[in-house]
This record gives sequence, C-alpha cells and structure tokens, in this order.
Amino acid sequence: MDLKWSLDELYTSFESEDFINDMKKLDSSIKKINDWSEINLNTKDNAIQKIEGYINIQIELNTLFEKLMSFAELTSSVDAKNEKALMIIDKLQTKITELTKPTVKFQRWLNSIENLDKIISSSNILKEHEFYLKEIYNKAKYLLSDEEEILIAKMSNTGSNAWTKLQNILTSTLLVDININGQEKQLPLPIVRNMAYDKDPKIRKTAYEAELKSYKKIEESSAACLNGIKGEVLTVCEMKGYNSPLDMTLIDSRMDRETLNAMLSAIKESLPTFRKYYKRKAELLGYNNGLPFYELFAPMGEIDMNFTYDEAKDYIVKNFRSFSEKLAEFANNAFENRWIDAKPREGKRGGAFCANLHPIKQSRILSNFTGSFSDVITLAHELGHGYHGDCLKDESILNSDYPMPLAETASIFCETIVKNAALKEATSKEAFWILEQSISDAGQVIVDIYSRFLFESNLFEKRKDHALSVRELKELMLDAQKEAYGDGLDENYLHPYMWICKPHYYEAAYNFYNFPYAFGLLFAIGLYAEYLKKGKAFIEEYDRLLAATGKNNAVDVAKLMGIDIRSVDFWRSSLKLIEKDIEKFIELSNSNTN
Ligand SMILES: [Zn+2]
Repeated sequence: MDLKWSLDELYTSFESEDFINDMKKLDSSIKKINDWSEINLNTKDNAIQKIEGYINIQIELNTLFEKLMSFAELTSSVDAKNEKALMIIDKLQTKITELTKPTVKFQRWLNSIENLDKIISSSNILKEHEFYLKEIYNKAKYLLSDEEEILIAKMSNTGSNAWTKLQNILTSTLLVDININGQEKQLPLPIVRNMAYDKDPKIRKTAYEAELKSYKKIEESSAACLNGIKGEVLTVCEMKGYNSPLDMTLIDSRMDRETLNAMLSAIKESLPTFRKYYKRKAELLGYNNGLPFYELFAPMGEIDMNFTYDEAKDYIVKNFRSFSEKLAEFANNAFENRWIDAKPREGKRGGAFCANLHPIKQSRILSNFTGSFSDVITLAHELGHGYHGDCLKDESILNSDYPMPLAETASIFCETIVKNAALKEATSKEAFWILEQSISDAGQVIVDIYSRFLFESNLFEKRKDHALSVRELKELMLDAQKEAYGDGLDENYLHPYMWICKPHYYEAAYNFYNFPYAFGLLFAIGLYAEYLKKGKAFIEEYDRLLAATGKNNAVDVAKLMGIDIRSVDFWRSSLKLIEKDIEKFIELSNSNTN
C-alpha cells in the first residue's frame, strides 16, 4: 500500500495543461456570469429559462472552483512550504469575490419573482434545485442595498477581520513562562495547553497555572478584540433585520429554535449524570471536592493497544462490514487506491481531515497515523466523512453542501461502529480506558459546549449595552462553567480565560460556533440507536438520509428516518446511551481499583 495520497486524479501539477486550462476556464466563467447577470436580470420575463441558465453557470463555476481549490489546498496541506500552492489559493480567493455582485443581483431578482413555486414545478432542473433556490429566495430579505453590502464587506476587513487577525497573532505568539523540573522555560501556548494530557499530575497542574498567568499579558487586548467583533456582529445583525446573532446562526445552520431548545433541555437534564463522572474521576485521582479543571484530560491508566497501518485497515474494514458491505467496500477502496495520506512527515500539517471532491466523485483523507487506538478511531471518523461524500456524489454539486450541525453525522456514526466493536473484544482494563476517553470527549461536546453557549449568549446580551471589561468577561466565563459543570468541577480551579484560548468566539461569520458540535454528536448517536433497533432495514434509509443532507433543513433530514428532532425525547434517547457508558465506567472503576 502506498501511504501517500495521489492527487493526479485532480491534476498532475500546477504546470499541467489541464490545470492551466481550468484556471483560464474559471476566469471566463466568472466573466460569463457577470455579463449574463447584467443582460438578463433587469426584467422578469422568461423566468424559467433565466433561472435554469443561472443554475447551469453555477454548477460549472462550483465544479471548476472546487477542483482547482482542492488541488491547491491538498497540495499545501502536505507541503506547507509550497509557495506556488499558497499563491494559487490566494489568487482563487480573490477571484471568488468577483462573484458577489452577480450572486447578490440574482438573489434580489429571484426575490422579486411572484409565482416562484409554479415556476419551479414546471422544470426538472429547477425542481431538483428547489431547496437551493428557496434558500436564496428566503435569505434575500436580509439583504441591504448594494452600497451598504459593499460598505459592510469592505469595513469588516478593517473591522472584525482585523480583530480576528490580531487575536490570532496574540495567542499564536504568546510565550508561557513555565518551570519544568526546576528549569525555567518559555513555551508556546499550544504546547503548554497540551500538557493537560500529560501522565504526570505535577506537570498538568504546573501547566494550568502557567497558562492562566500568561493570559495576563494579553487579556486587555483580547477583550478589545472580542468587544470589537461582537459589537460589529450586533450592529450588522440589527441592520440586516435578524432578530439576534443566534437567529442568524440558526438560519445558516438550517435549524430552528424549537430544535435547539429541545436539544438544550435534554442536555440540561443530563448534566447531573456527567457530574457523577467528573466526581468519580476526581476521586480516582485523589480529589474530594470535584475535579480541578486541569485534570479534565488526565489519562486514566495505560493500555497496550497498538496497530500497524495494515492492521488498522483490516480492523476498520472488518468492523465496517458488520454494518454494511457498501461501507466496508468504500473504506477498502480508499485504503487501496491512495485516497489516504497516512503518516506524519516533514512539512505536513498535523491532525486529520477529509476532503470530499465532488467534481471527481472521490475523497482524500489526511491523517497522522502513529499506531494508537485513537489513531484508528480518527481514521474511522474521517472515512465516515468520505462515505458521506460518497452518498452525495450523484447529487448536483449545488445540493452537496451540508450545514455544520449535519456535518459530523456520518463521521461520528463510523467512530461509534468501531468503538463499540472494540469494547466488545476489550479486556476490562481496556474497556475502562476506551470508555473513559469516550466519555471525556462527550463531556467536552456536551458539558463544555453548553458552558460556551451560555457564555456567548450572556456576552451578546451585555455587549448590547457596553463593551465588557476583563473582569466581567472572566466572571461571565466562571458563571457559565459553574452552571454547566456544577459540583463536577472544583469551583476553586475553573478556567476564567477560556474566552481567550478558543478561536471560535473570534469569528464574526460564525457566531455560536458551539451548539452545532453537540447537535452533531447527539444526532449521530441517536441514529446509531435507531440502527440497533431496526437492524439491516436501517442501512438503506441511512444512505438516503446522507444523500439528502445538502438539500433539506435539519428537521426534514431527520424526518426521512422518522425522527423528530423538535422533540426532547429524541435527544434524551441519545444522551441515555452516553449515560449508560458513564454508569458502566463507574462500575468498572470500582472493580479496577479493588
Ligand atoms: Zn469530523
């Protein structure tokens, strides 16, 4: 097996004839849509043909752009110093801004059409793109005048975007003064934060204290960034006519309030069980007043579960096969046909991701496999994303984009398949370790995300009135953590500066970049519970659901499975599965320590 991916299926190089031609084609397509909109969107006659024309140009544009951009981004992700790749990415980003004018013009024009339903129903290509068109139509009511839109876009480059950049510079250049084994050191923030996973409890505590102290150096400037960004979001929201930043995020997430409220109330109900887990973990580590924040990620024991890359492949394919032949074949194909860039090497970025390449109906996965059990789970996760792309490959490219809350459905589902299979074969020591990791991860996505949601809600409320001081921000964060973690965490050791280290708060275009994570996890687990109930009958429905994620709102996607995400019960049933894991963890912790 070749452990580096092949990008030849996109282009053989930036110098290849295909690549150069496609760059030229992109230019002419951009010119085409600009000219086309100038000529066609001044009158309402021939609406059907005009909308069809627009859709066809968009398909052409999206296909070209995605192919070119994916090639440049994937190249750069394994070769950070590739200047050509960076230059192409920058060029493409600039080119894409030339689409703002025709797309806004079309949106306004479409919104002026009176009998849109009738028009859509009279053409097959329009019917196929009904959701796409209606979304454009509905969002038009938030459009301001051309001059205002352009002004906001330009001003945000010197406003919120500049604040985001500054915050990024502050946190990425911050050096933490830390004393490790008697040696004074200055280390970058990510390295110190990563010590939360260290085996040595002394290092975990020292790192936490040093981290908190280091924020003093940037707290005032970070608060200025946050106040600047959130202030701008409030202004723009109000001008555009959104009820609130939360409403704006919900609309972009294709979700409604009812769904969010149902999910949040189920989460609130589950908090006492999560607190039992945190308290038990605290006891096991020798604390009797709840878990200190710096012990949240403390490893619990060690296991000897190592995999070669070939073993990982066999393990994943075998367990995927217990779900469906199609999923197993998909994964096998990805391993065999160089869709995966497997191992760490110089110049390659860290972490893992999956890029679905709709124009060539394939995916590419980047991983940094070193052989741990977590690496195997990560591969299963990314293959899940790839499988999602596979289910979407025959949809129109305009129907292949799914919102953030649905983005993690297939990935977490695949993770769950492999994790459950592993738990079945595990010794009690291994099971304890796997469960603890899994609950700890879930705690981040449920309990910590809940605290972030509370913090951001209160932050927006107060920011309407005034810019918040550092003291207020710290207080707001502590209150949110107390409400979410309760007595699970030791009140004396919380993390008042989480608003500095999480970049999510500093993205003006993505407010409340928190609850979609909880949605993703709970929706995937809920589907898994359905699978356990329905067995094989579930599988076809599941593929159909994944294929529909790019052309429906969340409620309708779930309805395809007969699931009502507006009901608290659905979310309860997902959380029940995590609660069961917690009970099991506590049970094992008694026998493991005896
Ligand atoms: Zn993912």
